[in-house]
Amino acid sequence: MSTAKGKAGQKKQGQKHKNSFAFVPNKFSPVAMKIAATPIQGVCQRCKDIIEWKQRMGKYKPLTQPKTCLSCQQKRIYCAYHVLCQPCSTEKQKCAKCHEGDIAVHMDKKKEEIVKEEQELEYKISLLNERQKRSYRRKIERGDDDGANKILGNASAEYSDDDFFDDEPENEDDDVEE
Ligand SMILES: [Zn+2]
Ligand SMILES: [Zn+2]
Repeated sequence: MSTAKGKAGQKKQGQKHKNSFAFVPNKFSPVAMKIAATPIQGVCQRCKDIIEWKQRMGKYKPLTQPKTCLSCQQKRIYCAYHVLCQPCSTEKQKCAKCHEGDIAVHMDKKKEEIVKEEQELEYKISLLNERQKRSYRRKIERGDDDGANKILGNASAEYSDDDFFDDEPENEDDDVEE
């Protein structure tokens, strides 16, 4: 219910929480969390060990936004520490992290599906305007996945359904709409 505010990571000076957040969709994306939670795949044994070590040591940092693929230059890497996107890595049969080693554990269908889901999500979000993105983000933060999905659906279908989007600046009084 309450959005996790304050505490860890809030000690940056000079950046108070105004309305100036950079929009980082994946940070709150349930799909991204799913990707992070699945086992390390699509990399060589050495890289797998390295990433697993990071996980064990609590140093593993999931991506907060898609990274650009070294090969195709598209922003569609969703797995932390990878430098090749899933399609490129599969095509070259090379480790997605060091892009040299042979892939030790191939990405299974399930994970591939999830990554694809995330790629589609990312694309849909890119269709939103700033206001819609804010609205989307707010819903994700509230855990209102349905509402968030509706915004995405709306963006591609009807672009200007204005009264669907709540546009007030951050009101915390959680009034339930619908
Ligand atoms: Zn690529
Ligand atoms: Zn590797």
